[in-house]
Amino acid sequence: MTESPGLRVLSLIPPMTQLNTPYPSTAYLTGFLRARGVDARQDDLALKLVLELFTPDSLAALRALTRAMPAKKRPPALQSFDAQFDRYLATVSAVLGFLQGRDPTLAHRIASRAFLPEGPRFASLDAYYDPDGGDPLAWAFGALGVQDKARHLATLYLNDLADVLREAADPRFEFVRYAESLAMAQPTFAPLAAALAAPPTLVDETLARLTLDAVARHAPRVVLLSVPFPGSVYAAFRIAQTIKAHDPSIVTVLGGGFVNTELRELTEPRVFDYFDYVTLDDGERPLLALLEHLDGKRGKSRLVRTYVREDGAVRYINLAEPDIPFAEVGTPTWDGLPLDGYLSILDMLNPMHRLWSDGRWNKLTVAHGCYWKKCSFCDVSLDYIGRYDAASAEVLVDRIEAVVAETGQTGFHFVDEAAPPKMLKALADELARRKRSISWWGNIRFEKSFTPELCQQLADSGCIAISGGLEVASDRLLTLMKKGVSVDQVARVTKGFSDAGILVHAYLMYGFPTQTVQDTVDALEYVRQLFDAGCIQSGFFHRFVCTVHSPVGQHPDEYGIKLKPLPPISFAKNDVGFIDPTGVDHDALGVALNKALYNYMHGIGLDEDVRRWFDTKVPKPRVPRNFIARALGY
Ligand code: SF4
Repeated sequence: MTESPGLRVLSLIPPMTQLNTPYPSTAYLTGFLRARGVDARQDDLALKLVLELFTPDSLAALRALTRAMPAKKRPPALQSFDAQFDRYLATVSAVLGFLQGRDPTLAHRIASRAFLPEGPRFASLDAYYDPDGGDPLAWAFGALGVQDKARHLATLYLNDLADVLREAADPRFEFVRYAESLAMAQPTFAPLAAALAAPPTLVDETLARLTLDAVARHAPRVVLLSVPFPGSVYAAFRIAQTIKAHDPSIVTVLGGGFVNTELRELTEPRVFDYFDYVTLDDGERPLLALLEHLDGKRGKSRLVRTYVREDGAVRYINLAEPDIPFAEVGTPTWDGLPLDGYLSILDMLNPMHRLWSDGRWNKLTVAHGCYWKKCSFCDVSLDYIGRYDAASAEVLVDRIEAVVAETGQTGFHFVDEAAPPKMLKALADELARRKRSISWWGNIRFEKSFTPELCQQLADSGCIAISGGLEVASDRLLTLMKKGVSVDQVARVTKGFSDAGILVHAYLMYGFPTQTVQDTVDALEYVRQLFDAGCIQSGFFHRFVCTVHSPVGQHPDEYGIKLKPLPPISFAKNDVGFIDPTGVDHDALGVALNKALYNYMHGIGLDEDVRRWFDTKVPKPRVPRNFIARALGY
C-alpha cells in the first residue's frame, strides 16, 4: 500500500465534457487512490465554469463586451441580448436553479413563454408543426409535460446565452467541447501553443480564477488533469499554465482518453512547459508508480507508461508492470464533486440523446475493455478496447450499492463500449437476489445470446434503454467489418428488447470502405423497416472515420482503400484520410440519411419509398419490403 499523506492529489475534470453528470474518470481515480491510502481530492471545473459564466456579474461583463462592438455590426444574438438584458439579469439564476432540479415549480412560468426572454434560438420552435395551430411543442411533450417543456425552453435560453458568449467573448466555447480543433488530430503543438500564448478571453480568465480557488481550497502537491476528448485539452493546458504560474512546484500530470488515443507518438517537448508527466492508458498503475517516485521510494527509470522531458527531449519510460485487475480498482467515489449543481438540459428531442444530457446518472463500467474486440473500424489495438477484464457480479453489485449509498441516486449508465451479455445476466441475477432496485442503460452488441427471455430479465432488473451498433445495415459490409451480427439477427434481438419495454438506439454508419450508393439506399430501407416493425426507436448516423489504431487503418489494402500520407507527427495522431476507389459522395448522402432518420424517430414517412429523402436520383432498394417482417417470423 502506498502511504503518501504528504502528497495530496487533486484530480480535475477540465472544461468541457458534459453538464448533467460528472465524467467518471476522476471518480474512479479518486476512489482507487483513497483505497490505497492516498489523500485524494477531486473537482469538476467544467461544470463550475458554466455556472460561473452564467451569473449576473458575468452577464454584465458580456454586455460590456457586446456594447464595445458598433451597434450595426452586432449579430442578431447580441442585439437580442442587449435589448432584453434586464430580463436576462432577472432570470439567469432562477433558470440555473430550475435546471439543477432545485426549483421545479418554476416550470409553470417558464412553460408559459411569458417569463424568459427569447432570442434567436427560439426560432427553432417554429419548425415544429401543429396541424391544429395550437402550442407547437404539444406534440413533443403532451398537455401534461410541463416540466419537460420548461426544461427544453430553459435549454434554448442557455443556448442563446452561449451564442452571445461565442460572439462577444470567445468563439471556441461550446457546452460539450471547448476549442476542440486545437487538439483533435493536430500533428503539431503549434496551434495549441499559439492559443495558450494569446491574451486570455473572458472564459480563460474565469477558468483561471476557478483553478486558483481549487488550488487554494485543496492545497495539492500533485494535480491530475484527465482529458477524455479533444474538446477538453485546451482548457487542461490553461489550467496547468495557471497552476505553474502560481506555484511551479505543484506537480502536474496529464492523462485520459485523448492522451491514450492521440498522444502515443508524443515528441513535443513544449508540452512539458505545462505538464511534468504524461501517462498512457489506465491511470492506476502509472499513478501509483509516479507517487512512489515523488515520495522518493522509486527511481525515475522505474516509472510506468510515462512520458517525461529530459535534457530538452521527450522520453517514454515504461517499466512493464501488470495493470491493476478490474476486480481490484475499487469503487469510484463522487465525494468532492458538486452533485447538486449539475444541469439537466433537454436539447434534442431524441429519446436516447435525452438520456445522455438529462439526469444525473452514476457512470460505472461492467467490465474493462470489449469482449468482442474484432470490429474493423474500432480502435481494438488500444488498451481500453483490446484488454478485456471482468469482475464478478457480486463485486459489481457491491460497487452499485456503495455508489447508491454515497450519492442517493439509483440511476446507472454503464459506460462500457459493449457490455457482455453473460455479465449482464449475472448482474440481473445478483440484483434480484439482493432485491436491489436500480435503473440502468448502456451499450451492447446485438448478439443472439440476448434472447427474449434475457431481454425480459434485464428489463426486470432495471434496464430502461440499450444502444448498439447496426453500423451499415448490409450483410456484405457487416461481414467486412467483422461485426459478428447480421441484419435479420439485429431485427430479432432489438425486437426482443423493445417487446420487453426497453428503448433501443442503433448506432448507424455511412461511408465505410467500398460502400456504394446502392448499399446506402439498401441500408436505409432496412432501417426504415426496423423502425416500422417497432424494433428500434432511436438512432444516429455517424460518418465512418478511419483511425490509425483500427484494423482498417492498419491493413487498408484488405478493405480496398489507400491511406493518404500523414505529415510528420510530434503531437496528436488519430484520424487518417483515405482514398476509396468507389468515389461515392458520402457527404451528400449523409444529409438524406439524417433527414430520414429524424422523421422516422417521430413516426413520419415510415411507409414511403426511401428514395424520397435523397435530393439526387438514387437506385431502387434491392431489399424486399417485408424483409424484417419475415426475419421476425410474421
Ligand atoms: S465496435 Fe464495439 S463491439 Fe466492436 S470491437 Fe469496438 S467496442 Fe467491441
